Amino acid sequence: MLRAFLLYLSRAQWAKSMTTNFGFARRTARRFVAGETLDEGIEAVRVLNSKGIKATLDHLGENVTNLEEATRAADDYVELLERIASSGIDSSISVKLTQLGLDLGDEPALENMKRILAKAVECGTFVCIDMESSDYTERTLRIYRTLRDEYGYKDLRTVIQAYLYRSEDDMRALAEEGAHIRLCKGAYKEPPDIAFPRKADVDANYLKLAKIFLNRQAIEKGARLAVATHDEKIIRQIEAHVHEQGIKPDEFEFQMLHGIRTDLQESLAREGYQVRIYVPYGDEWYPYFMRRLAERPANLWFFASNFFRR
Ligand SMILES: Cc1cc2nc3c(=O)[nH]c(=O)nc-3n(C[C@H](O)[C@H](O)[C@H](O)COP(=O)(O)OP(=O)(O)OC[C@H]3O[C@@H](n4cnc5c(N)ncnc54)[C@H](O)[C@@H]3O)c2cc1C
Repeated sequence: MLRAFLLYLSRAQWAKSMTTNFGFARRTARRFVAGETLDEGIEAVRVLNSKGIKATLDHLGENVTNLEEATRAADDYVELLERIASSGIDSSISVKLTQLGLDLGDEPALENMKRILAKAVECGTFVCIDMESSDYTERTLRIYRTLRDEYGYKDLRTVIQAYLYRSEDDMRALAEEGAHIRLCKGAYKEPPDIAFPRKADVDANYLKLAKIFLNRQAIEKGARLAVATHDEKIIRQIEAHVHEQGIKPDEFEFQMLHGIRTDLQESLAREGYQVRIYVPYGDEWYPYFMRRLAERPANLWFFASNFFRR
């Protein structure tokens, strides 16, 4: 109930206007967001890199409503890629297609992606397309495959969400294609005819889907998995599975979000695993922040304590 309400608020304009005006809300969001500027994003990555951890930078924003905003978002990503190259940090980037104009049609999103991908190749890094709500799953996968197969951006990556019923078929197809996929549980509000309503079923499906990629046959086809979760039980099960299958640490990676389970991030890196942290920055932090609150209602206490410290 509380999760559903917080996810509803994440999309409500009135709640956004109210919350973003409060200094204490901005302070609370800082736990999950590196800062509002590109410099703060780069600095957060430097700190991670010094601990042997890689990053993927996300310039926050989603669901733009006109072409100018979409073009500006792509310009910002081009600038970000140039900064990644000139500052020598180890970071890829993550983008949302609705930030690049998907609500205005496939074409603007595709064109903006082409510009970003050309720059990523020039800068020697890669791009991952985040997965948004199920309204966009089919179109996101279509644009991902078009860019990968028709335009030759072989290193492009995308995301599959374990809470969707369709994801098992998607993962089987993507493993055959030798795709690079980030597997997460899923952060949006989805109806029970599309997604598992029970957390235990999502967790069980996560492990099942991960194993579709974490086997010799899929790896030999070029398939690579980013295990994106903070769920320690799942992480330990994945560790046991990769040891059993003889899968080497450079054949998959763990991914987590900035500000969540930093202890686990650092201990996995020390154990010799590849770890990549999703580092969001920018002033459009509201929906991202609300999804983080929805994932863990205990975060509401953290929010409330910042209110009383105003
Ligand atoms: C690198 C990365 C990229 C992602 N990209 C996408 C995407 O493209 N599309 C999408 O829909 N979702 C994305 N997500 C979010 C994901 O779908 C989940 O909503 C989120 O990761 C929480 O699920 P969990 O796997 O950590 O498991 P959970 O079972 O929710 O949490 C396991 C444990 O992790 C800790 N934890 C989890 N969330 C929080 C939190 N918000 N605050 C504090 N502690 C927490 C707690 O200790 C909790 O007990 C991404 C997640 C990661 C790590």
